[in-house]
Amino acid sequence: MSPNAESTAFRSALEVVRAVEPRVADAIGAELADQRESLKLIASENYASPATLLAMGNWFSDKYAEGTVGRRFYAGCQNVDTVEALAAEHARELFGAAHAYVQPHSGIDANLVAFWAILADRVESPALKKAQVRQVNDLTEADWFALRRELGDQRMLGMSLDAGGHLTHGFRPNISGKMFDQRSYGTDPVTGLVDYDAVAEAAREFRPLILVAGYSAYPRKVNFRIMREIADSVGATFMVDMAHFAGLVAGKVFTGDFDPVPHAHIVTTTTHKSLRGPRGGMVLCGPELADQVDRGCPMVLGGPLPHVMAAKAVALAEARRPDFADYASRIVANAQALADGLLRRGAKLVTGGTDNHLVLIDVSGYGLTGRQAEQALLDSGIVTNRNAVPQDPNGAWYTSGVRVGTPALTTRGLGTAEMDATAELIHTVLSQTTPGANADGTPSKAKYVLDPALADKVSRQAGELLAGFPLYPAVDLG
Ligand SMILES: *Cc1c(COP(=O)(O)O)cnc(C)c1O
Repeated sequence: MSPNAESTAFRSALEVVRAVEPRVADAIGAELADQRESLKLIASENYASPATLLAMGNWFSDKYAEGTVGRRFYAGCQNVDTVEALAAEHARELFGAAHAYVQPHSGIDANLVAFWAILADRVESPALKKAQVRQVNDLTEADWFALRRELGDQRMLGMSLDAGGHLTHGFRPNISGKMFDQRSYGTDPVTGLVDYDAVAEAAREFRPLILVAGYSAYPRKVNFRIMREIADSVGATFMVDMAHFAGLVAGKVFTGDFDPVPHAHIVTTTTHKSLRGPRGGMVLCGPELADQVDRGCPMVLGGPLPHVMAAKAVALAEARRPDFADYASRIVANAQALADGLLRRGAKLVTGGTDNHLVLIDVSGYGLTGRQAEQALLDSGIVTNRNAVPQDPNGAWYTSGVRVGTPALTTRGLGTAEMDATAELIHTVLSQTTPGANADGTPSKAKYVLDPALADKVSRQAGELLAGFPLYPAVDLG
């Protein structure tokens, strides 16, 4: 590759866009500048490689390709077949899965594909069988009623939202909460860890069709072998949503009992979080569920996005290289250094630390709500997001936690020394921020007081920390 290839590619692309709508070109350039300047600790974000980004911006976007490799409902899909087959092959090899379905457009979509595959596999529903063989037009009104009745009784057991579970695991704001009768398991009130005996008891009582493991805000490993035993003991299908930690599975940080792929009946993921690929989703499963999973489009998905599947193939090829394992172990070393740095300075952490890529700070220790803490950190150039803590007294909007994660900063090259410096910046801001009051003098859960001079100083320090680790160093937009 020529030394200027990346700069040339992005510069030329922006020049072409600028000729049509300069404001879009400007916004794209501004986004790069913003990302370069901010200390990004959002646990679900990352920086995809230039190769991954560039694989998305092309004529694959113009192609309809409903169906699967070699079995399309549209003519002329031979090149889409090539990239979809490659992405699936890389995914199977990387994760040791029998089957990979790389069409889901996002993590939510991957979960919907998995839910419908499990329902179709497990529930005796003549109406659903008809729908599955694409005889939807033959479904009578009575069939639709039967379908709703037959499926409406099904149960799902997943991790509670405030313990770190995800909306798509059966909670109201998501369709899964309307599809399933849901119950959730929390974490131990003292240790903050998953209590497997409590999960087993909930499973025995509730007898779910689907047991879901996976999270977006739980800072610890989950033992998937034990979870599978629990699922088996009640005849449930065991599904793992590894959206957040797929990179740690790919990078062989989570192995044995902590690798979901050999233990789960079905695994879903995003491709853009710790896995560092394009925005998208994926489903992995054994041969038993493969046919149902492949019906994701048109059951719940719109037509595949061939340009994104091309980028998935590139990113998954990257994740198969030895340096990705090194990256994954550095993500965890960095999260632990950040946790240690915060603890040493007196912060309160949910579970007292981390063994994955994220740390959940209980900011009630600083007398703040999550919302106040998140905004005060943002004023100081530190990008995080507020998040509920277990049994959160402030609810899901204001919350009492701030979630920080290391996949993005680790991609940039920051290491454990910089994580300690980051802990110092976070602690400085949070310990100097005080809750504000409403106009009538009552305490506010949103307003806060932070000396702007301090916020500026921390912003500058954050900038200095990042200066040694340029983002996309080979990309110069001029
Ligand atoms: C992020 C996430 C999702 C949703 O992913 P999208 O791509 O935003 O749809 C689903 N499940 C879990 C556990 C997640 O963390």
